[in-house]
Amino acid sequence: MKQTILFLVSAGLLLLSSSNQADKKAVEANPFFSEFNTLFNVPPFDKIKEEHYLPAFKQGIKQQQKRIEAIVNNSDVPTFKNTIEALESSGALLTKVRNVFNNMTSAHTNDELQKIAKEVAPLLSKHNDDIKLNAGLFKRVKAVYGQKEKLEMSSEQNKLLEKTYKEFVRGGANLSLEKQARLREINEKLSLLSLKFGENILKENNAFEMVIEKEEDLAGLPPSVITGASEAAKERDHEGKWAFTLHKPSMIPFLQYSEKRELREKIFKAYINRGNNNNELDNKAILSKIAALRAEKANLLGYRSHAEFVLEKNMAKEPDNVYKFLNQLWKPALARAKQEARELQAMIEKEGKDFKLEPWDWWYYAEKLKKLKYDLDDSLLRPYFRLENVRDGAFAVANRLYGITLEERTDIPKYHEDVKVFEVKEADGSHIGLLYVDYFPRASKRGGAWMNSYRKQSRREGKTVHPVISNVGNFSKPTGDKPALLSFEEILTLFHEFGHALHGLLSNSTYEKLSGTSVARDFVELPSQIMENWASDPEVIKTYAKHYETGETIPQSLIDKIKKSSLFNQGFATVEYLAASFLDMDWHTLTEAKELNVEKFETDSLNRIGLIPEIVVRYKSPYFRHIFSGGYSSGYYSYIWAEVLDADAFEAFKETGLFDQKTALAFRKNILEKGGTEEPMALYKRFRGAEPKIDALLKRRGLN
Ligand SMILES: [Zn+2]
Repeated sequence: MKQTILFLVSAGLLLLSSSNQADKKAVEANPFFSEFNTLFNVPPFDKIKEEHYLPAFKQGIKQQQKRIEAIVNNSDVPTFKNTIEALESSGALLTKVRNVFNNMTSAHTNDELQKIAKEVAPLLSKHNDDIKLNAGLFKRVKAVYGQKEKLEMSSEQNKLLEKTYKEFVRGGANLSLEKQARLREINEKLSLLSLKFGENILKENNAFEMVIEKEEDLAGLPPSVITGASEAAKERDHEGKWAFTLHKPSMIPFLQYSEKRELREKIFKAYINRGNNNNELDNKAILSKIAALRAEKANLLGYRSHAEFVLEKNMAKEPDNVYKFLNQLWKPALARAKQEARELQAMIEKEGKDFKLEPWDWWYYAEKLKKLKYDLDDSLLRPYFRLENVRDGAFAVANRLYGITLEERTDIPKYHEDVKVFEVKEADGSHIGLLYVDYFPRASKRGGAWMNSYRKQSRREGKTVHPVISNVGNFSKPTGDKPALLSFEEILTLFHEFGHALHGLLSNSTYEKLSGTSVARDFVELPSQIMENWASDPEVIKTYAKHYETGETIPQSLIDKIKKSSLFNQGFATVEYLAASFLDMDWHTLTEAKELNVEKFETDSLNRIGLIPEIVVRYKSPYFRHIFSGGYSSGYYSYIWAEVLDADAFEAFKETGLFDQKTALAFRKNILEKGGTEEPMALYKRFRGAEPKIDALLKRRGLN
C-alpha cells in the first residue's frame, strides 16, 4: 500500500516536472514571447503555429494585469506619466498577439483558429472589464483628469487623457457594483455572439455553390467568366462542369451577363438569404439578441439607445443628425432609382418579355443598358485593368503626392503564397513601414476588403516604431492564361483600402492609441475615399490602364465613356447603401432591450423609407457583418458622411492641381499624420480652411 502511494506520488512529481519542462519549452518556442527575430520585427509567420496563440493571449493578459497592479499600487501621486502613459503602454504583448490573431481570423482562418477565438473572446472581454472597472485605477485616472486644466500638456497628451478618461466612464466605471456585474455579463455575451455571427456568414458563404452541367446554361457569359467557373468547378471536384459561388468575383459577373433568369434568381437568393436559412448557421436570433443586449447596455450606462452611446464619439454626435443627413440624400436618390427602374423595365418590354423587373434582373439589364447608352461593357475594360498595374498605379499616386516609394520585398515571411510585401520609404530613402497586400478570395478569408495593422505607428522613448499594415481584398483572380483583370469597381476598392493603408503608414503620433486610423468612425473613411478620386481621374487612369497583352494604354475613347457613364446606376447604388444605413440606425435606436422578429423589423424599417421592391438593401440584417460583427454599429452611415468630406477635400486638389505639392503636404500634415490626436473637424478645417460643404457630394452622385 505504502509503496503504491509512493509510486503514485513520484509518478505525479515526474508528470509535474515533465509538464513544467514542456511548459518551459513551449515558452521558449513561442515566437510571441520574445522580440520577433525578423527583418523589421515583423511576425515570423513561418514560426507561428496555432498552439502559440492561446498561451500568448493568457500571458499577455497576465502581463498587463501586473503592470496595472503596479500603476494602482504606486505610492506616488497620480501623474500623466505614471498613470495615463503607463496604462497606454501596459499591454504590449497582448497587442502583439491580438494584431496577428485578428488578421489571421479575418484573412486566413481555419477551424482551429475559430475555436481559439471562441476561447479567447470571453477572456478578453473579462480582461477589458477588469481594467475599466478597476476602482483603484479609475481613481487615479480621474485624479489626473481633474487637474487637466493645470497640467502643461501637448494637444496629443490632452487627447490621450480625454480619451482614456472617457473610456472608463463609457466602460461603466461610474456604475454601481450590481450594474457593473450585469455589464460584464452583457459584454461577454456580446463578444461571443458577434463572433458567432461572423463565423456563420463565412460558413454560409462557402457552403453555397451553383454547379452548371449544361453548356446552354452558360448563355450570355463572357469567355473569361466561363473559364473562371470551369476552374472553380475543378477546385470543387466537379471537373468538366462550371461552378459559381457567392464570392463577389464569381457572382457579380454571373448576375451581369447570364441570360438564364432562373439561375440569376437562384444565386441572388442564395446570397441574400445567407444567415436566414433556419439552419444551424441562422443569424436571426443572434442579431436580435445583439441588438437587445446593446440597448440594455446603453440604458445601463445612461443612454437612451446604443446609437446615442456610439455617436457621442463621432462627428455626427447624435442619432438625429444622422437621420437628418440620410433623409436629405434619400429623396433625390430614391427618385433617381425609380427612374432607373423604369428604364430597365422598358428594356425588358422592348425585348418582348412580359415580366416585372426583379432584383436579380437589375444587374443584368443595367449592364445591357450601359452598353446601349454608352457603348461600354465591363469586359471591354477589364483587359486594361491588370491588378498589378492598378496596384502600381495606386502606389504611383502616393509617390506623386507624398514622394513615398513602395518596393516589393521577397525576404519577409508571409502567411499565404498570395501575399506580397512592400517596403514603404520616404523620398529620401528612409524607412516608413511595410505594407502586406493579399488580394484574392479563398475559403479561409471573409468577404469584403479591409485594411488592418500588424503594428501601429508610435514612438517609444523618442524612437519611432514603424507601422506594419495590411490590405486584404477579394478581387478577381487570374483565370486560364489571363492575369487578374479587375472591374472598375474593384479598382476603386483597391485604391480605397490603399488610402486607409496610407493613413496607417504615414501616421506620426506618439501614442498607439491615437495613431493612424484610430479616429472617429465617420472620419476614418476620408483618407480612403479621397483616393478613389485619383483612381477615376482620366490622367491617372492612363498611367495604370495598359492592355495586359499589347501593353497599349487605354484609348481616350474608352476613358471618355467611363467618364460619361459615371453617373449611371448611381440611384441604385445610393439607394441600396442608404437603405442599409437606415436599417443600421433603426436597429440601434431601439430604446428597450427586447428581442424582436427580425424579418418583420427589417421589412417595417425598409417600408418606412419606401424602398422599392426592385432593390434589395445592400446588407440584409442576417449578413450585415459591418454592424453585428464589425465595428460599424450605428456607423454604416459613415461612408457617405465621409463622402461629404472627401468630395469637398478633393475640390481643394481640383482647385490647385491634382498633384499640387502644397495641397498634398497640407493633407498629409493635417489629416494623414495626425490620426486621432485632435478633433476631426479641427483637423479638417486646418487642411481646407473651412468646414466641408455637401455640394460636391451631391454633384458627384448626380443628386443635385
Ligand atoms: Zn473604408
